[in-house]
Amino acid sequence: MDEKDFIRHCGATFKAAVKFIDWDRAPDGTAGSYYHPFSFPPYLNGYAPAYHVNTRLFAGYLGEYCKTVGVTPVLDVVVDAERDKQGHVSSLTLERSGDHPVEFVIDCSGFRSLILQQALEEPFVSSQESLPYDRAIPMPVDHVDPDGPLPPFATSTGLSAGWSWNVQLWSRRGTGYVYSSAHTSDDEAMAA
Ligand SMILES: Cc1cc2nc3c(=O)[nH]c(=O)nc-3n(C[C@H](O)[C@H](O)[C@H](O)COP(=O)(O)OP(=O)(O)OC[C@H]3O[C@@H](n4cnc5c(N)ncnc54)[C@H](O)[C@@H]3O)c2cc1C
Repeated sequence: MDEKDFIRHCGATFKAAVKFIDWDRAPDGTAGSYYHPFSFPPYLNGYAPAYHVNTRLFAGYLGEYCKTVGVTPVLDVVVDAERDKQGHVSSLTLERSGDHPVEFVIDCSGFRSLILQQALEEPFVSSQESLPYDRAIPMPVDHVDPDGPLPPFATSTGLSAGWSWNVQLWSRRGTGYVYSSAHTSDDEAMAA
């Protein structure tokens, strides 16, 4: 995959770190800030794959790219997964195209966890005790200065019941508020 082509088509910017703002306070009460690389990315073919991307554009780009390497994407909704006698997933039932035999499945259905939790009955293990954040309000917005520099980091700003994030892409800023519903109401979070 050509990196420049990928960047152009996915609105990508470089991500070297996350800047944490107001997650701690100095003894005099002033807000602190620090950068954290989150995790050192592994190198793939000499590239460090640390980017901010517009995930919708990236999904479309991957769909087009996979055709060029002989993979046929099937866009459909998974409604069921069938298991063979050994308990392995052997076919998926798709909404429009019906039964689809499979040899290898990666469950990318997020919180729906269609294969892992529903078909394979893996229990959901909650981390609520140490990670109380259970709500998010995403708000993509225009750049304040469309011709201004794009920082190679995202920011995460501590707020009373969670944090707001700010991810600068080529075309827009991805912002929003992640919060704990036990510590604020949805209306208060929207107002914040
Ligand atoms: C508010 C917020 C901000 C975040 N910010 C960042 C960030 O800045 N950087 C970062 O790295 N991570 C971020 N994350 C985390 C990141 O979004 C998730 O870790 C990641 O999206 C998980 O990917 P996934 O593929 O497991 O699930 P998802 O991204 O949730 O994708 C699941 C997909 O499955 C599809 N699907 C569901 N059911 C079916 C079905 N029956 N048939 C077919 N398709 C189905 C859904 O439509 C969806 O497209 C953020 C998360 C949130 C909530």
